Amino acid sequence: MSQTKILLEEKDIPSQWYNILADLPSPPSPPLHPGTKQPVGPDDLAPIFPIGLIMQEVSPDRWIDIPEEVREIYALWRPTPMYRAKRLEAALGTPARIYYKYEGTSPAGSHKPNTSVPQAYYNKKEGVRRLATETGAGQWGSALSLACNYFGLECTVYMVRVSYEQKPYRRSMIQTWGATVHSSPSDKTNSGRAIREKDPESPGSLGIAISEAIEDAATHDDTKYALGSVLNHVLLHQTVIGQEAKKQMALAGEYPDIIIGCCGGGSNFAGLSFPFLADKFAGKDLRVIAVEPISCPTLTKGKYVYDFGDTGQLTPLIRMYTLGHDFVPPGIHAGGLRYHGDSPLVSQLYHEGLIEAQAYGQLGVFDAAKTFARSEGIIPAPESAHAIKAVIEEAARCKEAREPKVILFNLSGHGLLDLGAYDAYFGGQLMDYAYPEEMVAASLSRVPAVG
Ligand SMILES: *Cc1c(COP(=O)(O)O)cnc(C)c1O
Repeated sequence: MSQTKILLEEKDIPSQWYNILADLPSPPSPPLHPGTKQPVGPDDLAPIFPIGLIMQEVSPDRWIDIPEEVREIYALWRPTPMYRAKRLEAALGTPARIYYKYEGTSPAGSHKPNTSVPQAYYNKKEGVRRLATETGAGQWGSALSLACNYFGLECTVYMVRVSYEQKPYRRSMIQTWGATVHSSPSDKTNSGRAIREKDPESPGSLGIAISEAIEDAATHDDTKYALGSVLNHVLLHQTVIGQEAKKQMALAGEYPDIIIGCCGGGSNFAGLSFPFLADKFAGKDLRVIAVEPISCPTLTKGKYVYDFGDTGQLTPLIRMYTLGHDFVPPGIHAGGLRYHGDSPLVSQLYHEGLIEAQAYGQLGVFDAAKTFARSEGIIPAPESAHAIKAVIEEAARCKEAREPKVILFNLSGHGLLDLGAYDAYFGGQLMDYAYPEEMVAASLSRVPAVG
């Protein structure tokens, strides 16, 4: 019997994070101050982030040590397992060999604690008392609450209103780990109150909730802000996934031809793929595919320009693929993929043709999730199911061409707190949103002019 489950030992938890900035074929575009349009420096970011994380954000070093306190917490669930999806291969009748790295074994059920833990650690170390953050479907809010609880920090979460009302269970996780959660737009901040005045029924969006959390941090001396994706230091922390995966593939005697991850802000995708991309920069043949929803198609339909990271225009301008900072995507069930922008690093790699992107509608995505759950057993998060959809498409191509390629994907989380979405799917109430072309054109027309 060939191996199904490929496990590592505690000593195999990486001792360093991999910083892809050191290996990029061309230099990154710096974030700009929205007023002066000059590059922002560490001083500009100090009111909202601790220095330890700011230094990582701009570090040119290829390897950055993981503090022992962080590795000890990682060890509560890392190394995460890798599986060969033999039953899925059989169900698809494909000659492809499919592997997945499963990040749903963390206490929060996703990859997000890989970064929430070091973020809480550096804040605690610098004397911060409280962290403020936003959350869409609640995955990041719960992951940060978990991490703040480990380090004895207070935590305030601004949760996008639709999710706050439709997904009460992640709200309960946030409360269980001792954090405070507000429905966003809230009456706690100027940015929240301004939106509520204009539109009392606003369903909220990630962009709005980010504005609220940043304002909270900027107006309280003992409070800093934490972001769950997009930024360089977040992607850096997630590279523990790909480093472990490389060892596991080697144990299986394989190297992937294709790597696939779903892409919201880009962190789980980057976490798995960046350590392998280092090999591609060195000449290795490798396809890497980021998968997003058709209703929020940042890479496949957005523009590569400077834009704000939030609706309230409080962040620096960052060069990324964007649908416009005030774009509010349709309420699909993959809440973690509803962000108007994308990580600058992932955006640059896509712009330079080093990675590919694919977009799928949610009905096809849930069909893929069902196929996966009925073969492998694990019920995937709706976000992760986007990756599965792309895997199934690639496996079908392998079948047609009779090519036994090796496909590796990131199963970024389980879907046990998204069963409401599965209910809607099985009840025939789930619909496919078309690409909201006019809304995107309108919000792109409001992107600030730079250069
Ligand atoms: C948040 C989340 C995502 C999307 O965020 P990325 O930063 O793009 O990884 C994907 N999958 C799961 C399970 C999530 O919780």
